[in-house]
Amino acid sequence: MKAEILAALRASDGYVSGQELCGKFGVSRTAIWKAINQLKQAGYEIEAVQNRGYHIVSTPDILSENELRSIRKTEWLGNRIYYEAEIDSTNTKAMKLAEEGAPHGTIVVTDHQKNGRGRRGRTWESPAGEAIAMTFLLRPKIDPNNASMLTLIAAMAVARGIEDETGLKAGIKWPNDVIINRKKVSGILTEMSAQADYVNHIVVGIGINVHIDEFPEELKNIATSIFLELGIKINRAALIERICEYFEAYFEVFLQTEDLSAISKQYDAYMVNRNQPVKVLDPKDTYEGTARGITTRGELLVDTWESRKLVSSGEVSVRGIYGYL
Ligand code: ATP
Repeated sequence: MKAEILAALRASDGYVSGQELCGKFGVSRTAIWKAINQLKQAGYEIEAVQNRGYHIVSTPDILSENELRSIRKTEWLGNRIYYEAEIDSTNTKAMKLAEEGAPHGTIVVTDHQKNGRGRRGRTWESPAGEAIAMTFLLRPKIDPNNASMLTLIAAMAVARGIEDETGLKAGIKWPNDVIINRKKVSGILTEMSAQADYVNHIVVGIGINVHIDEFPEELKNIATSIFLELGIKINRAALIERICEYFEAYFEVFLQTEDLSAISKQYDAYMVNRNQPVKVLDPKDTYEGTARGITTRGELLVDTWESRKLVSSGEVSVRGIYGYL
C-alpha cells in the first residue's frame, strides 16, 4: 500500500486527506497513519496538516521497491520489482529468480552491487548508494541467435533516459558502452539461458555511474559519472523509470521483426565512434579500420583498407586507435 500512497500523494498538487486515502485503500485511519510514518522513517518528507491531510514535500534518492512501484509508468517491465540493499550481482540474482519461475518483466535492483561483472570475467565497479545496478529479466520467444541485439537496445534506452533526465548529451560506443564526453558512464551485460532454438530467459544487466565523484586510478581516464558531468545529484529512481519506458518501447519494436531494422538508424546517430578510426580486438585477429554504423542485426560495419568487415559483439572489443575511444 505504501507505493500506492506515494503515488496518490504525488498525483495531487495539494493535500490528500486521510479520509480519502482510507476510502481509496479500504483501510483504517490508523493504518494510513502507520504507513505514512514508515515512509517518513524511510526518508520521505511528508507534511501532515490538521483538517487538510498529507502533502509530500520532497523525495530522497531512494531505490526501494515502493519508490520504484510508485513512479512506474511501464506496461510490463517492472511488473515485479525485486529490491535488496546489497546483492552480489544483479544478473546472477536475476538468473536465479528466473530459474525459480520469476516472470518476464521482473526487475532486480540494488543499492550496492558487491561483485558486478563485465564481459569475459571482468569486474564492474558499483559503489554503495552511488550507482544504478539493475537487471531486466526477459522471456521472449525469439531465436537465441538474435538475443545479443537486446544489448544494443538497452544501450539506446540508457542513453535516451540519461539525456531526458539530465539534459546531457549521451552517445554509444558499439555495442554497449554509454558515453558522456568521451568517457564511459554505463555498461551493459546481457546473458542468456537457452536451448539450440529456444530461449529460456535473458537477463540484461545495466550499471550506471550516477553520484560517483572519484574513480579508482585504473578507471580515471575511461570512466565518468552523471554527477561529474552535471555537477548535481539526480534522482536514481526517476532515471530507472525513464530507462524502463524506453527499453519497453524499443523491445516491442524489436519483437516485430526480431532485428533492429526499425532502430538501426537511430542507433547510428548515437554512435560516438561512427566514421572514426577504430581498432577491432578480436581474439583471433586484431585489425584497424573505420567504423561505419551497424547492420540491421546489430553488427558493426568496419571498412578496412582491403574490405568491409562485419563485426559481431560477443568476444570482440572496439577501441580508438590511441585509447578507449
Ligand atoms: P569493451 O567493449 O570496451 O572492451 P566492455 O563493454 O566489454 O568493454 P565490460 O566488460 O562491459 O566492458 O565492463 C568491464 C570493464 O569496464 C572493466 O574492465 C573496466 O575497465 C570498466 N569498468 C569497470 N567498472 C566501471 C565503471 N563503474 N565505470 C566505467 N567503467 C568501468
